Parts: sequence; C-alpha cells; structure tokens
Amino acid sequence: FVEIAETLSGSREPTETYGAVAAAARRALRARGAVVATGVDDLHAVGAVPSEPALVDGDGRAGALLALAAREGRIVLCADVAADGRIPAEERERLVESGQRSALCLPIGSHDAGRAMAVLGVVWDTPHTAADDDLELARHLAAAAAAAIERAEVLAAARLGEQRASDLQRISDLMSANLDAPAVLSEVVAQAAALLDADACALRLVEDDRLVVRAVQGPLAPLPGHENGSLSVGASAEVLARRTPLAITDMAEDDRVPPDDPLVRAGWAAFLGAPVISPDGGVRGVLALYGREPRTWRPDETQALQIFAASATVALQNALLYQRVAQEKEKSEAIIASIADGIVVVGHGGRIEMWNRAAADMTGVTARTALGRPLRDVLRGELSDVDDAAGQALDEVDFGGGAVEVRLLRGEREIWLSVRAAQLRDPVEDRVGTVYALRDVSSDRQLDQLKSDFVATVSHELRTPLTSIYGFAETLLRGDAAFSADDRSTFLRYIASEAERLTRLVDGLLSVARLEAGGIALDLVDVDVTEVLGEIVTRESGRVATTHRLALQVPEAPLIAAADRDKLRQIILNLVDNAIKYSPAGGVVEVSAERRLDAVEIRVRDEGIGISAADQRNLFRKFFRADARMTRGIRGIGLGLYLTRGFVTAMGGRIRVESTEGVGSSFIVELPLRRGSGQGAQAA
Ligand code: ADP
Repeated sequence: FVEIAETLSGSREPTETYGAVAAAARRALRARGAVVATGVDDLHAVGAVPSEPALVDGDGRAGALLALAAREGRIVLCADVAADGRIPAEERERLVESGQRSALCLPIGSHDAGRAMAVLGVVWDTPHTAADDDLELARHLAAAAAAAIERAEVLAAARLGEQRASDLQRISDLMSANLDAPAVLSEVVAQAAALLDADACALRLVEDDRLVVRAVQGPLAPLPGHENGSLSVGASAEVLARRTPLAITDMAEDDRVPPDDPLVRAGWAAFLGAPVISPDGGVRGVLALYGREPRTWRPDETQALQIFAASATVALQNALLYQRVAQEKEKSEAIIASIADGIVVVGHGGRIEMWNRAAADMTGVTARTALGRPLRDVLRGELSDVDDAAGQALDEVDFGGGAVEVRLLRGEREIWLSVRAAQLRDPVEDRVGTVYALRDVSSDRQLDQLKSDFVATVSHELRTPLTSIYGFAETLLRGDAAFSADDRSTFLRYIASEAERLTRLVDGLLSVARLEAGGIALDLVDVDVTEVLGEIVTRESGRVATTHRLALQVPEAPLIAAADRDKLRQIILNLVDNAIKYSPAGGVVEVSAERRLDAVEIRVRDEGIGISAADQRNLFRKFFRADARMTRGIRGIGLGLYLTRGFVTAMGGRIRVESTEGVGSSFIVELPLRRGSGQGAQAA
C-alpha cells in the first residue's frame, strides 16, 4: 500500500496519472494487465498496461464489466470470464482468446453527477477468486488513485487557466494595438475560435434591428440566411436577450434553436455564444463559436469566451472610433487637395507637414520633394529665395491678418504668391504650427507690370511727336528769323508727319478699345490685294529709301479677297512698319501675295533681328514687346500685332509667324477669297 501511495504521489498530467494508476494496480494485485477508463456517456480507456487488456475493445471502448462498475458505482468481480453471463459473447471471446480468465473492476472516486467517472479494471491469467486482502488492497488503490487523479486534474485546470489568461492578455494586446476595424473584426473571430479550439466562429453585430454577421472564421460562410439574422429567433438572439453566455451541446436537440436554422441544416451541432457589451452597457452583438460535433462546453470555456468577448468589445470600439477619425481625415484631405488655394502646413519644428496639390502646381515643387523638409530649405533650394527675402516675409505674416506678397523663381519664371497665415494649435500635443494659404498672383502682377510699362511707353510715344510739333511751330512763329519758303515747307512737312504719327497712335488705342468691346465695324467688300500691297510698298519705299529695299511680289492678275479695305491697309502697314523697324541694319523687306486653294496668302518677310521661339508664342498678346535687349531703342507700344490679329480674325482670316533669331521673320496673313463666282477669273 505504501508503495502504491508513493507511486501515485508525484504531480503528473492527468493522462500520465491514468497510466500510473493502471501500472500500480497491476503490480499490487500481481495481475496480468490493468486499464483505466473514463467518460460520461462514452466510457473509454485512458491508460492501460500492457497496451491491450481485453476489457476494452480494439477502439478503446469499455466492455460490459467496466461499464457495470461505472454505472453502479461498485466493485464488480468476475472469477471466471468463460462462465460469467454478464459478459456479452463477443467480449468473452476476446478475453478468452487473449488468455485473460478473471477480472476485477472498481470505480475510482465518488460517483457525483456530471463528472466523468473513472473505472479501474484488472485481469488475471487464471480463474481467480479474489481474497479479502485483494479487495481491501483494491479499495485502497481506488482511493489513492482518486486522489491522484483529482490532484492531476486540478493542476491541469490551473495550468489551463494560466495559459488561457495569458492567451487572453496576448490577444487583447494584439487587438488594441490594431486600429484597422475590419482587421480587428477578423482578428476577433480567428482568435476566439483558436482560444477554445472551435470549428468556426461568427461575430454578429446589432444593426438596424438585425443581427448582421460582420466577421467569420471557419467554413460558416457562405450560408444564406444566417448572414442577416433576426433579433428574436435562434441561439444568438437568445444570447442577446439574456445578456449572458449560452452553451448548447447540440443545436439540433435544443428547443431554443428552430429546426430550420440554416446552421443546424448545414450540420453544425455545438454552439457557445457570448454577448458583446459596449462600455455604456448596451449589447452590441454576439460572439459565437460552433462545433461540427456535439460538444459539452465546460464552465471555464464559457467563462473564457465571455471574458474574451468583453476585451474584444473594447478593441472593436477603438477600431470603429479610429475608422471614423480616419474617414474624417480622408475627407478633409480630399477637400484640401481639391481647393484652388495652395495650402502649406509647417509643423512646430519648422518642417513641412502638408503641401497640397495647388501648392505643388503653383510652385512646381512636388509634395514628395517638399514634405518633411524645413520650409526655408525648399524656398532657398527649389525656389531661388537666395537672399531669404521670401522666408523673412513669411515669418512676419500677421496671423489672421492681411496677406503678404512674396516673389519666388520657378526656374527662369518669376512667380508671385500672395500668402496668408494662421496659427495651428494641436491641443493633444500642445504644439504650434502654421498654415499658409497661397494664391498665385503672378498674372495680376504681370498685368500690372504690363500696364505701367504701357503707360510709360505711350506717354513717351505721345510726347516725342508733340515735342517736334511744338518745336517746329514755335520756330515758325518766331518773328525775328526769316525762313526761306523751302525751310518753311520742310518744317510744315515735319509737323504734318508727326501729327500723322500721333493720329495713328491715338487711332490704334481707340481701335484696341473698340476691339475689346467687340465693336469693330467691318465693311467687307471685294478688294484687290495686289493693289493695296502695291500702294503701300510704293509709299513706304520712299520713306526708307536710304536704309531698306522694299520688294513687291504679286501675280499680274488681281487677287480679290473679301475684306475691309481700310483695315487691310492698316494690317499691311503694321507688318511692313514692323519689318522695317525690326531690321535696324537694313536689308530687303519683301511683300508678296499669292492665291491658295480658298484664300489669299499675304507674306511680309524681312531680314531683321528675328524673334525667339518663346517670344513667338506671345507676340500677338496685348502690350507684348520682345525682350528689351533685342529691341533696344526701337520704339513701339506693343499693340500693333494685337490689333493686326484682331482685324485679321474679324475678317475671317488667320495670321502666323515664321522667324529665326538673327536671320529674319515672315508674317503670313490668309484672307478668305471673294465669295461667289469670279474665282475662275482670278485663277488665270
Ligand atoms: P510694337 O512694334 O509697337 O512694339 P507690335 O505689336 O507691332 O508692337 O509688335 C510686338 C513685338 O513683336 C515687338 O515689340 C517686337 O518685339 C516683335 N516684332 C514684331 N514684328 C517683328 C519683326 N518683323 N521682327 C522682329 N520682331 C518683331
């Protein structure tokens, strides 16, 4: 007995303990073999020496003698198996064949409800009538074994509890670290299923009076009908109503589950559900585990799921909150990206934290280049703020006050930004940053510049002829000097030509005003272009005979265009004037015209300074004058070509330029042919 007590005293796992009990029994009773079986409905071997005592069948299921001892909670003695009517034929055969002739079966521990009953079975080689000593020993053995098994089970439960607690801790840490809501949901179901080794898990949330499946682990989906369940029918609804966990061994046998439940029909048997309760006490949903086979859920399992559901609720709440914040953030980012103002946020360390699309468009500096760098760095590096003028101006902007204008360079191009600033306070981290709102005012600036340039040039252009006129008139009026008739007429000619220049200037200005008001009156008639060209070439040749040679290239037959004669004259005169003006070194100015398919093409070509490709694009804009370095000293107000194009397009024609710097330019005007017949005549 002492030997037995010693053998069974160590701390072991329950499975090892069963084996040790069997081994001790065999030795103490000098038996052939021993087996321990447990199980409530299904009594089966859990430890045996040697491995196959015939009291259990090939699958380990307990035979009649063991079952009897378990059922009745008493010692069952069988002196000769061959003669024992309690043993079914099959089992008897098994025993006899393996040479096991007598047996003793006795319950271990008390026979209390619900707990698995353990039974010990011992077999001998020969028919055997157990002596009182044997029975006494067997009883002691059973008591010691019961204590050992109980100890092992308590130990195992404690170990499991510890394990589960650390699992729960790990899982809830994991979930609260994760703020992505869908990810948290799938984490919850995956971990819940793993925690209790269930075949499947579903998380249902209450949404608009339905229980909606929001995450699933295992082969539950797709099961139409269970995705969107009622709040009042079924196992999950029951959990919701009771606000406590519900364990069901087999849903098919349980009247709280309707027989047509889709999960029951799909063959799911076991159910364990726990309510998901939000911090304010409302039931948000149900976390449910499922088993393919019926399963008796232990109280500690039910409790574990309940604790798990509670910690999942917090994680879930966090994730949903975070999701809402993320959505808000996305929304405001979309707004900031789409507004026309440039928005730049500089954090308290002076580094750029936001650089929206408009800011990138205005400055030509991408967000990728700008983000994370000090603002000054970007201004200096990418935007040529070498003397830090812009940087300082930005430092001095009034928060919430007026805007300042800063000048930056984007490559060669000047950009002017009007900047407002506001202070940004981050209440959480108690930091201060600055938001700058930028508006591109480069074109306003450009226009201002153009206007003041224009006023300066126009004043100058008006002043020059006026000075001459005034001077000559004064001279003529002087009483003391007598002028020859020749001198007088020279003076008067000057006065007349300067007055004409003035008139042309003023006419030009008036035409611009009219053109812009859309009020150019056209008198479209048939005009012989060759005639107009001839007239102008003759007139201008006389004027510049000493410096330039004007050449006329036109067909002999008239070229009739539908045009306003006056405007056409002005167009050609402008182009020829420019050709002469912008060939300061002289050369040939060729004026030609020819017939195209449906147009008359007029060309004015010079051998002058030419026009750069960049300037060619701007040539026809109002007030535009090419780079002053090129046109130094050449007078003009930048309206001629603007007007010329206005007239040409008003008459339904087109104008273009071809030019090479330093070689010369050609201006080509196409005017529509005279409408109607008569074209055949022209073709000749
Ligand atoms: P303006 O001659 O009064 O300056 P225009 O509108 O006639 O104004 O011409 C605009 C600009 O185009 C001129 O300032 C000049 O720089 C350029 N330009 C015009 N014609 C020629 C030309 N034939 N050769 C070179 N540059 C020209």
